[in-house]
Amino acid sequence: MHHKYSAPFLFDGHQLRTDGCVLIADETGGIVAITQQHDAGDDIQFLQGCICPGFVNAHCHLELSHMRGRVSPQQGMVGFLEKVLFDRQAPDDVVMHAMHNACDEMTGKGIVAVGDISNLLVSAPVKAAHGLYWHNFIEVSGFVPDNAEKRFQQASAVAAAFHAVFPPAQVGVTVHAPYSVSRPLMQMVAHQHPAILSIHNQESLAEEAFMQDATGDMLHLYASLGIDIGFFSGIGQTSPHWWLPLLEQKQPVLLVHNCTTHSSDVTLLQHALHTIYWCLCPGANLYIGNPLPDVDMLLQHGATLCLGTDSLAGNTELSILHEMQILQQHKNLNATQLLGMATYNGAAALGIADKFGHFGTATSPGILLLEGFEADGLLDMVTVQRLL
Ligand SMILES: [Zn+2]
Repeated sequence: MHHKYSAPFLFDGHQLRTDGCVLIADETGGIVAITQQHDAGDDIQFLQGCICPGFVNAHCHLELSHMRGRVSPQQGMVGFLEKVLFDRQAPDDVVMHAMHNACDEMTGKGIVAVGDISNLLVSAPVKAAHGLYWHNFIEVSGFVPDNAEKRFQQASAVAAAFHAVFPPAQVGVTVHAPYSVSRPLMQMVAHQHPAILSIHNQESLAEEAFMQDATGDMLHLYASLGIDIGFFSGIGQTSPHWWLPLLEQKQPVLLVHNCTTHSSDVTLLQHALHTIYWCLCPGANLYIGNPLPDVDMLLQHGATLCLGTDSLAGNTELSILHEMQILQQHKNLNATQLLGMATYNGAAALGIADKFGHFGTATSPGILLLEGFEADGLLDMVTVQRLL
């Protein structure tokens, strides 16, 4: 028994169709075909709104879900990081319960796949128990070069434990951010060739000042951590100039945030690297008090954009629809562009476009209905429900 759906709008992962076509899927959600009505036979369900593949959340930190509401908005980057570093302790049952709820929330909002940053093992059993696809970025940090080996071994041990639960393609060690990793640590991570390397890139003005000439608020963070960073005097340039030479050309990277990224940074990176995905997390940027990325500039460079919610420590909800709505309120983007970011581009970034992000034959991307969707217009009034 096949499911047959038709609606005034159908976004297939690449383009918005308005030809009244019919999406045919098997009982398990596998896509069979998109056909014209006269070829689809009987039992077509005619719906209102837009049919769309399941959303991909390319950047999340599930293990911080219990911190929802614990960090007040607009603390700035350093205030936020201090709160997360010093105030994340909570009883195990609270942490587990919050992660389960967060998985349910994402599922309810139409998310089918998640690129999730993990510092600890704690999220692995929760993820395995929910029907979402997970790419586990095992994140390492450590700004003091002498600690690089130890930090890398610790992260590798967490990755090994994740491997017991997930296939190899769904686990890789990755770095936190240029301002929190040393050169040898960055090299160790790059040299193990993860399928994709995720980097928190150019998220705040504080980070920019720190990387440029070791000034600004970020100094407070290292002081409060008790880490002597007297050896660091800045690199005199923006951070991509520092980490780019440590990677290999063919290493695909997922750059997250990009709030203070300049046109010259994009030129530099695109010239040197084969594959770059630019993940935007506007909800977290607004919550923390960081600038929103220059989306027009990124698009002018032909950048491949995808979307992430970041964590509930620094966002009000885990909803890719909400991220699209925020971007549309602040930037000049139409629904087709945003839906591409929310579906196919995110799937491509996580290396799962053979199954997710579009209605290609033999994919199983999840099927959503965006109710209240009109023309290629505003997503403000749209709500999402899962059809299959
Ligand atoms: Zn993050």
